[in-house]
Amino acid sequence: MSIFDKFKLGLGKSSKSFSAGLNNLIFKKKIDENTLNDLEDFLIESDVGVESAKELRQKFNNTKIDPKSSENEIYQIFSNYICEILKPLEKNLQNIKENKPSVILIAGVNGVGKTTTIGKLGKILGKNDKKIIFGAADTFRAAAVNQLDAWSKKINANLIKSEEGADPASVAYKALDYGKKNNFDYLLIDTAGRLQNKKNLMDEFKKITTVVKKIDSSAPHETFLILDATTGQNAINQVEEFKKVTPITGIIMTKLDGTAKGGILLAIGRKFKLPIVALGMGEKEDDLQIFNAQHYSKALMVN
Ligand code: GDP
Ligand code: MG
Repeated sequence: MSIFDKFKLGLGKSSKSFSAGLNNLIFKKKIDENTLNDLEDFLIESDVGVESAKELRQKFNNTKIDPKSSENEIYQIFSNYICEILKPLEKNLQNIKENKPSVILIAGVNGVGKTTTIGKLGKILGKNDKKIIFGAADTFRAAAVNQLDAWSKKINANLIKSEEGADPASVAYKALDYGKKNNFDYLLIDTAGRLQNKKNLMDEFKKITTVVKKIDSSAPHETFLILDATTGQNAINQVEEFKKVTPITGIIMTKLDGTAKGGILLAIGRKFKLPIVALGMGEKEDDLQIFNAQHYSKALMVN
């Protein structure tokens, strides 16, 4: 399957919803005030964000559309707009700051897909014989450590863990120490995401970042925030909260396969201008796609 086909498949629910919406609202219609109002409402409901909905409305207001070729033209306007916003945010894995190992801290609230994403990302980063190590710093539940353990076996990565309830920062320290001494290329650190206890989370994060700096003053080299597309606008609040805790160097959005509102990525990109690393479009090991704005915009628009 080509990479574009994977985007198509993953974004299937969203693209069906977009094309049905556009079909009802704007295809072969006179683009008047009513049509534009309906379009704006539909876009807001699709989670693209109020600002993008307004800007798209403006674009349609300013464009003369030939009724004969209207569908293509309309799709084109959408994909151009999406690309304009998201293309500059593409973060290829080659852009990950290089180090031995590059330390990637994985943040996000409970259940968004952190541990699963670490497994999938580890598989991608592990190509070309790169050595991968996981740090199980979500020590809050034994199940979380076991889950990461299973992923490490599946994708052939090493795992550093401690007993349940251990200090997450000490696990991160141990993992980096081991990774450095044994010449690993990437260390991915799993964390707990109890945002309901913000003070605790903030302290925990600060402690992890402080402790890894004792071994490598430039670590963590990346902090990726994982967002669950099915939480919709709530994802916006999560970015705001985590930005207060730690600098975010990339976003990974998961579960795009499980929502018809894949427009949320546009809202996040438009608002925060944070680099977008990858998209999760399924639970299996090959269901993480490195972000590509063109594939995303096309897959979302053309059904
Ligand atoms: P964590 O609490 O943030 O570590 O989240 P987990 O990695 O444990 O994931 C929570 C659930 O979401 C699990 O059942 C995963 O299989 C599922 N999940 C993660 N990513 C995706 C995705 O991209 N698509 C789908 N459909 N499910 C996902
Ligand atoms: Mg987890």
